[in-house]
Amino acid sequence: MIGAFLAANRRWVAEKFRRDPGEFRRLDACQSPRVFWIGCSDISLPATEMIGLAPGQVFVHANLANMAAAQDANFLSALSFAIDVLGVSQVVVCGHYGCAGVRAALSGERQGMVDHWLQPLRELGWRHAGALDAILDLETRANDLSERHVRRQVASLAANPLVQDAWSRGQPLAIHGLIYSAHDGLLRDLETSVDSGKAAFPLVHGMLPKGRVSARRARPATIRGRK
Ligand SMILES: [Zn+2]
Repeated sequence: MIGAFLAANRRWVAEKFRRDPGEFRRLDACQSPRVFWIGCSDISLPATEMIGLAPGQVFVHANLANMAAAQDANFLSALSFAIDVLGVSQVVVCGHYGCAGVRAALSGERQGMVDHWLQPLRELGWRHAGALDAILDLETRANDLSERHVRRQVASLAANPLVQDAWSRGQPLAIHGLIYSAHDGLLRDLETSVDSGKAAFPLVHGMLPKGRVSARRARPATIRGRK
């Protein structure tokens, strides 16, 4: 199997060189990410491709169900590196419809070790059980929880000491919540962006907007202030 992977890689390099001999040199030179992207492990598309940036311009952290978990040393190390070392100005939490992690959390069935990882999602579902149970279609219900979860992760990031400290010292830093649909390829802005401690105050104190942002109402996303 690995031999096939390496052979495919050599064909890929040869094709790239055939089209543009200078491409790898240019890619190597633009390793200066301005965006920290927190995505889900089961989104197969590269973030750079979805938002029209070159490889090397986005610093990516992926885990199951795009968690910005304040107790996860792996995530905190990546966040610290992005803010304090790379000096990114944009942080994106990107969820997606049809997320296997969200569906697993909603199902209530025992899945093993992953149940511990998904516990915050399960608790979010319990907190909004009234609204979620009113949605009869299971796919729509899971998508609704995916949106709520992304907003919750933005709020969690806004309360994170690493982010709060960056805002306190005047570092430009905006946090956005997006959701991706494999049905149409569009990223939707969940309109929960914050770029200062003051702007984040309502989020941090749990005053999330009531109701859900439906796929129809949510607007295709633009990342404000992207450099
Ligand atoms: Zn997912």
